[in-house]
Amino acid sequence: MSDPSSTPVIRLLPEVLINQIAAGEVVERPASVVKELLENSLDAQATRIEVRIDGGGRQLIHVGDNGCGMVAEQAKLSLARHATSKIQNLRDLFAIRTLGFRGEALAAIASVSHLEMESRVADEPDGIRLRLAGGKDLQENRVATPPGTRITVRNLFFNTPARLKFLRSDRTETGHVTALVQRMALVRPDVGFRLVINGTETLDLRAGEEERQTEARLTAVFGGDFVANCIRLDVEHERAGLSGWLGLPGLHRANGAAMHLFVNGRWVRDKLVNHALREAYRGLLPKETWPAVALFLELPPGDLDVNVHPTKEEVRFGQQDFVYSWIRRSVADALASMGATATRTTLFPAAIPREGQEHPLDDGSADEVIPERVRLPEAVSRPVAWTAPPEPTTSCKVSEVPRRQEPVVAPPMPTLPETTVRLGEAVGQIHGTYILAQTQAGLVVVDQHAAHERIVFEALKKDFASRRIARQILLMPEVLSYSAVEARVVSAHLETLERLGVVVEPFGGNAFAVRELPSMLADVSARSLVLDLAMEVERFGASSALNARLEDLLTTMACHGSVRAGRRMTLDEMNALLRRIESTTFAGQCGHGRPTYVEIGLDELEKRFGRK
Ligand code: ADP
Ligand code: MG
Repeated sequence: MSDPSSTPVIRLLPEVLINQIAAGEVVERPASVVKELLENSLDAQATRIEVRIDGGGRQLIHVGDNGCGMVAEQAKLSLARHATSKIQNLRDLFAIRTLGFRGEALAAIASVSHLEMESRVADEPDGIRLRLAGGKDLQENRVATPPGTRITVRNLFFNTPARLKFLRSDRTETGHVTALVQRMALVRPDVGFRLVINGTETLDLRAGEEERQTEARLTAVFGGDFVANCIRLDVEHERAGLSGWLGLPGLHRANGAAMHLFVNGRWVRDKLVNHALREAYRGLLPKETWPAVALFLELPPGDLDVNVHPTKEEVRFGQQDFVYSWIRRSVADALASMGATATRTTLFPAAIPREGQEHPLDDGSADEVIPERVRLPEAVSRPVAWTAPPEPTTSCKVSEVPRRQEPVVAPPMPTLPETTVRLGEAVGQIHGTYILAQTQAGLVVVDQHAAHERIVFEALKKDFASRRIARQILLMPEVLSYSAVEARVVSAHLETLERLGVVVEPFGGNAFAVRELPSMLADVSARSLVLDLAMEVERFGASSALNARLEDLLTTMACHGSVRAGRRMTLDEMNALLRRIESTTFAGQCGHGRPTYVEIGLDELEKRFGRK
């Protein structure tokens, strides 16, 4: 057990050298830097993290977060070796809930690079910027910067040429970083991750626990065919939990790289667990192949020693035997439950057990093949009928694979009150601007922009009246830059904008960062929305007059956030819009007072054609 404070000998070495020695263990390559910085961001409760690398991470690594940030003194301390906010005593070391705790990563990274840190806590007016070269020559400035922490590491290993030599090609190093970010994203669906490589966005994973988000993350890690071909596992045992996704046998891989284990949110390698997994898949996979699995093990912190490896990629289990047999058994049971399907499809020939070959936990259920369950994709996306084998202490459930969300555009037809105007069925769109619909009494021509604007306006008004406008946090703040005059206007009305659901913060100079927007506004250009609103508020003076001018402001917003004229719409989208117009008050006019649709009766048509 290396309690960091009980290593007096190393105090005799110069600080920078100590850090460089630590860097030898902690910082193997650019991906290790990204790992430490990402872990710090997650420990800082960030909900959005952006990673940028240039030149495989050799030239530049940047990790920016919207976490708690640090005050100046703390920021300076964070760069010192053995400086951590995460543990104070030995007891803490055995109750670790954070990813970091050794307090050496930042010092180690700084000692072998040019490091710049910007950090600000939300309730301070500005932040701090620290710069170090090879862990020395600390420069410090106050800076205008958004809350959170941004760390930029340039010229990694510039002062340790021997280590530089060990780096592989840019492509390989980039690959390591990408894999790392994908893994982290998998275990934290509540956090948004964006990865930019040499200026190109390669990953943009939005935060959210919804299936769609989880699927996007699984797809990023395992590839496109995984989601439709996996089994969801979810098992509990006393205070332990085991969940994850098990790739069907047909998705086998040539090596073990697709077996991912996360213990208490930490990605680790573990021979024991890998063995348990291979045992569970035994008989289902061809020789010398490995399954694709993401397994999440949750254990009480006291049952786990996380301090056994410098980069914390290994752990030691208190109850090794239990972990092994629990994982093996649970995974095998889940696979067996799919046995009738997975083992009889021609899509997955590897999974077919030969005559007489033993299926793990074969309980005979494989014999009751229901014909339509044989086709794999259907079988998998249907709830799996499965009863857990009797085991008194364990409650198991294998749930359905997350179902792909259908791109449903049209909401179900609402039941409308008698008095509502029925706008009929869309037949098409003309000039990319008008929707043509057939109604019982004739036809209706709808101005798509005007109609949508009215809907958004009414919804915003209702929202505003009830409590506050529903907002959506942007995954990455959008930075807007304005002229000096515009910037002055915008910064004068930030509070009013916030009340309207548009959350904008100063971003230094004439720039602003948009953090949140009303959820109702689709595809809005934040830049012109913010400016238009600010200008309008400016025109009528103090924000106390907000309520008096509310309708105008909401109209401006609705106008920005509505389907533009000229945008092609699908029939489903058109019908959805028609139904929403019908259920919106004052739907006959847009916020500017123009009509949103005109009706032409059959009698008028008949008259025009001389039928009447
Ligand atoms: P450890 O993570 O093991 O504590 P580090 O050297 O990685 O050690 O970080 C030192 C300390 O700096 C952390 O304990 C934390 O208090 C602070 N810190 C580092 N990165 C961030 C960040 N992104 N946001 C807020 N605080 C941070
Ligand atoms: Mg750390």
